[in-house]
Amino acid sequence: MENKEKKSNVENVVIIGSGPAGYTAAIYAARANLQPLLVTGFNSGGIPGGQLMTTTFVENYPGFPDGVLGPELMDLMKAQAERWGTNLHESDVVSINTDSHPFELKTLEGTIKSNSIIIATGASANRLGVINEEKFWSKGISACAICDGATPQFRDEELAVIGGGDSACEEAAYLTKYGSKVHLIVRSEKLRASAAMVDRVKANPKIEIHWNTKVNKADGSEWLERIETIHSQEGKGEISIKGLFYAIGHTPNTKFLGNKIDLDNKGYIACKSGRPETSVDGIFAAGDVVDSEWRQGVTAAGTGCMAALATERWLAEKNLAKTIVRETPEPEKKLNSSDFNEEEVNEDTFDSNSEWQKGSYALRKLYHESKKPILVIFSSPSCGPCHVLKPQLKRVIKELDGAVLGVEIDIDKDQDIAKQAGINGTPTVQLFKEKLLKKQWQGVKQRNEFREAIKSII
Ligand code: NAP
Repeated sequence: MENKEKKSNVENVVIIGSGPAGYTAAIYAARANLQPLLVTGFNSGGIPGGQLMTTTFVENYPGFPDGVLGPELMDLMKAQAERWGTNLHESDVVSINTDSHPFELKTLEGTIKSNSIIIATGASANRLGVINEEKFWSKGISACAICDGATPQFRDEELAVIGGGDSACEEAAYLTKYGSKVHLIVRSEKLRASAAMVDRVKANPKIEIHWNTKVNKADGSEWLERIETIHSQEGKGEISIKGLFYAIGHTPNTKFLGNKIDLDNKGYIACKSGRPETSVDGIFAAGDVVDSEWRQGVTAAGTGCMAALATERWLAEKNLAKTIVRETPEPEKKLNSSDFNEEEVNEDTFDSNSEWQKGSYALRKLYHESKKPILVIFSSPSCGPCHVLKPQLKRVIKELDGAVLGVEIDIDKDQDIAKQAGINGTPTVQLFKEKLLKKQWQGVKQRNEFREAIKSII
């Protein structure tokens, strides 16, 4: 899409956050020709894309009668925001200065000036702080069953989920696909999840609910082996498990605001009920960062829309909007179904020069025959962080002109390879050269980390 650029180093609007609220705000602001800049967030506050990136099927988002995978829904929203001209900046905002106008936002890379801001930073999963939590983090303890459930160490083992909300119930049900049994550990005597979710959990013979129970300690040697529990009447107990998953609620991501914007007594941004305006004129908020009550994808998207419309009006009233002029009224369509459904290659379709291929056949061939380094991403079907990382890796490979070749391994399908490679969570990326493992990364990392490591061996 060719546009006449708005000629200023001051943005019309910066949207902070890339969940449903942020992307919906971006779609509306972009279609108002404001060419918004969306700072996706990177480390603080969870991965880009927000909480839906760590969900499996979203069955209550209107328009998807058969449900839609959370990461896929976020890919679609992102594509829609970009199609209408949103610029994305992959970074965290570390502070904002509201004392003067235009506002200043400090990111890890520098300072951005903007006439208005929409804060849509959402909320992050809480940790529990049980004894030995640090020791067994990623060695049995995880905050994301959906991302890590398929790893080989959990196969046919007993697992546990802590919490009684929709997340805990969804994760317990999901983990029954992999574990031999799932213990759902609930601190009270009731589940607060929706009725449909509660029914699903209670009907699942592989789930045992432990009421009025808290977890005190994790134990084991190299990997988690058991947890110590405390029942409110019966006292201490022990459950042998290989995986412990937290689903105990969230904390709003407002730390970077300091005391610049009024918060309510729970730490959420204080807005008048049903309105997106914050305590600072020109700064608006949307999604879970303002909402301790409803916290749904669709409510976040709705408030994102409100925030964008309010921002558009505010910029117009103040005569601050510098709109772009589109050369074509209809931007080029973005959607490519192969982005979502990549096929595994086989003997007939393998290509030793292809920059990106999927499956164990490609890995074996390249591992044994390629002189070029190979970058292997171990993913699982519903792993949201994998959706974030894959396009980043593809970009790095393109930037290096194919000097390195990418292979994706679905650990759900290729369990033996995942086991051999010692994978204990997704995404894991391994860099090989001539059969030697040069480096390994776990989780989402910045592109330059991969680029530098690859450059150092080619
Ligand atoms: P949530 O509803 O806040 O539930 C948190 C759960 O963790 C509660 O059961 C709470 O217990 C428990 N908990 C909190 N602190 C604890 C501690 N220190 N020790 C033990 N347990 C503790 O959070 P959520 O389940 O993540 O859901 C957040 C929102 O997203 C909700 O609105 C939910 O409906 C929505 N959601 C929807 C879907 C879906 O529709 N597919 C999926 C996931 C989430 P108490 O009940 O005793 O307070």
